[in-house]
This record gives sequence, C-alpha cells and structure tokens, in this order.
Amino acid sequence: MKTAVVTVGKEILTGKTINTNLTTIARKLKEIGIDVSRSFVIDDDKEEYMKILKIIDEKVVIFTGGLGPTIDDITRETVYEYFNVPIEIKEDALDTIQKYFDRMHIEKKNSNDKQALLPIDSIVLNNNHGTAPGVIFEVNNQIIILLPGPPNELKPMLEDVISYLKRKTKTFLYSNGFNLVGIGESTMEDTLQDFYKAYKEVNVAPYASPGEVKYVFTSEDKQKMHQAMDAFKQKYNKYIYGNLDDTLEGIVVNLLRHEHQILSIAESCTGGLVASRITKVDGASNCFHESFVTYSNEAKMKYLNVSEETLKQFGAVSEETALEMAINLKQNTKADITISITGIAGPTGGTLEKPVGLVYFGLAHKDKVISKHRIFNGSREIIQFRASQFALDMIRKELLKAI
Ligand code: ATP
Ligand code: MG
Repeated sequence: MKTAVVTVGKEILTGKTINTNLTTIARKLKEIGIDVSRSFVIDDDKEEYMKILKIIDEKVVIFTGGLGPTIDDITRETVYEYFNVPIEIKEDALDTIQKYFDRMHIEKKNSNDKQALLPIDSIVLNNNHGTAPGVIFEVNNQIIILLPGPPNELKPMLEDVISYLKRKTKTFLYSNGFNLVGIGESTMEDTLQDFYKAYKEVNVAPYASPGEVKYVFTSEDKQKMHQAMDAFKQKYNKYIYGNLDDTLEGIVVNLLRHEHQILSIAESCTGGLVASRITKVDGASNCFHESFVTYSNEAKMKYLNVSEETLKQFGAVSEETALEMAINLKQNTKADITISITGIAGPTGGTLEKPVGLVYFGLAHKDKVISKHRIFNGSREIIQFRASQFALDMIRKELLKAI
C-alpha cells in the first residue's frame, strides 16, 4: 500500500524541531512491509494543505501535527473540508478529553471541544498523553490518518494504526525481531550475506542507533520467519538482549529481580546516566537502592575511598581506579553487584595515551571483580550513552552467567 506522510508545522520548516515523527512512522510501517513512498513538510496554512492534498494519490495519507486546540491548529478542519466528509462532535471523544483534564486537575477550555470533532464514520485513536484524539477514516478510496504532533502522543497511537493497516493489506505480514548490544551493524552485515541468501522469503532489516542495533524480521510466511529468527539467534545469541520492545535497562532490572540481587553504581563520566536509566524501569526499587556520582577525584576519595595513591599513580581514568570504585562501593553499600564507570567523554581532555572516549569499567559481584575498558567514538553525549550501554551489558552478562 503506497503511503504518503505529511508533517505539519513551521517549527519543522525552520529547523527548530527535528522531524522525528517521520522517522518513527516510516520505521513502524516498514515493520509490516509498507514503505513510505513520499513525505511532505508543510506550513500550517490552509492553502498549503489544499495544494498538497490535490497532488497526493497514495492509498494511505498520514498527517502529523496541527491537532491542538489553538487557532493555528487547522489539520482537522482543513482535511475534513477538503474531502467534504460529514462530521460530528463525538461524545466518547469529548468524554475522554474531559477525563484527561480531570486527571491533570485543570479546567477544560471550550477550545478543546473542537478536538472531538470527527468524521461520523471514523475510528477514533484515544490519546492518553494529551487531549487530541487521532483519527482514521476512509474516503474516495483513500485511507486518511490524522495524528498529533507531540511524539509521546503519536507513538502509542501508531500501534492502532499498524493494526488497522495490517488488516487492510491483502497479504498478511508477520513481523518480529531482536535488539542487540555490543556489536556494530557493519560487523554484522559482513557476516550476514549467506544468511540473507538462505532466507530470501524473509525481509531482514537492521536499524542501528548508537550503542545498539535492532533487527526486524518480516515475512508472509510465519514459519520461515521463525526459522530465520532461530538461525539468527544461534549466530548472535550473546549479543541479543531482548525483543524489539525490550530496553536494556528493563532486561537488567528483570534479571536483578529474578536473581534477588541488589545493584549499586558508581559513575564518573556518565554523570548518573546508568542510575537514571535503571530508575526509569517500573519495579527498580526492588533491586536498586543507591548510587553515587563521583565526578572529581575528591569525591571518589570521599565517597568511595579510592586511595590518593591510586589516583596519583594511575589517574582517575584507569583500571585501578575503576576497580577500587566498584570494590569499595560494594563494601560501603552492601550491594550484591556493583559497577563503576570512569572515562573521558570529551570533546576535550584527551591525551595520546588516554584519548577521548576511553572508559574503564569495574564490576564486583560475589567474590569476583573484573575490569574492562573500551574506546567509544562520537560526541560527548553519545560516548556517555555508549558507556552506559556497555555498563548495563556487563551487568546483564554477569547475571546471565549466574543463571
Ligand atoms: P499541540 O496540542 O501540542 O498543539 P499538535 O497536534 O497541534 O499538538 P503541533 O502543534 O504541530 O501538534 O506540534 C506540537 C509539538 O509537537 C511541537 O512543538 C513539537 O515539539 C512536536 N512535533 C510536532 N511535529 C513533530 C514532528 N514531525 N517531529 C517531532 N516532533 C514534532
Ligand atoms: Mg499545535
């Protein structure tokens, strides 16, 4: 099914907002074998809508943005007007909007009522994170889908959109996949050529982001898809941390809880990122009580008893410091497993001997201590994220050994 995406908003045209909605939508559609054939970015101006709607002949048209309550949010009214579809205020949608305001303890404004204005014959996509419902309707042999601009509101609705489009595609496509950590996409692609040849009926698509790679498998043949996934799993098992919807921190928290292990973290160059990721997971309090950000040498000595001698002799970014951080943290907190991270996130501060991106990790678990180091590339933020991935993966691997 040919699909066009129209993103609306001046903030995208001026570069103020990055058009992540297009990426999110395109990736999600790809998972069910639908390619976005064209994408447009338009200003929220009525004439622009009319011009673009005239030229779009794709079967599916997805709009994002402009569903808000204010005067400049005109997607809904303009698209209804263009297609001349009969509309009404849907009581259910109005009720959901009212409930949102009640939950937030704020008064609903009259301007919000127009957000419940929907084609009589349409599917309403409820919005749990905002006020504007999304909507799907069919007109003139096209499927029109209107979604809100804020990414956190759009993403959950895409699940319903995907289910709807799956039902509409003549051939049913099965889709599944894995998330991998600790291996790069290019390394994998080099070793996957034979695999691709062996499973021609299965579309295998990699999506790489810093610190992890997703592999999405799509096929009309469920059995073939599972065969391909099994073969892939055998080959890359140690890098696969979970399924497409899993997060690395979620998997680590699950393992910690399953093993009844308490984790504590000592972070330097990641500034608390690992702790922050862990606490994003519901139920983290069962396996995580405390963590330290010891950025300066003084803090490493004060809170983690790292010896002045070690810092002087080997430096803060060293195996010796990383190990002392992890070992002493374990003693101080009585946690079952501890991890430490100390490195140079850059862009300044690197030397020939200790370049930007060099990060040391220490792990203490039971009576065992290990240290590892890596040199990560990328910006300061990416180096920090890659380091947090590596640390979480060290914990994951350590706990898996214990199972
Ligand atoms: P609101 O009720 O917030 O007005 P809306 O559906 O009218 O929602 P817009 O006004 O177009 O949506 O955008 C609201 C915000 O959503 C933008 O300021 C921006 O932060 C984000 N946003 C909009 N479009 C996109 C996009 N294509 N990619 C990423 N973020 C976007
Ligand atoms: Mg708006």
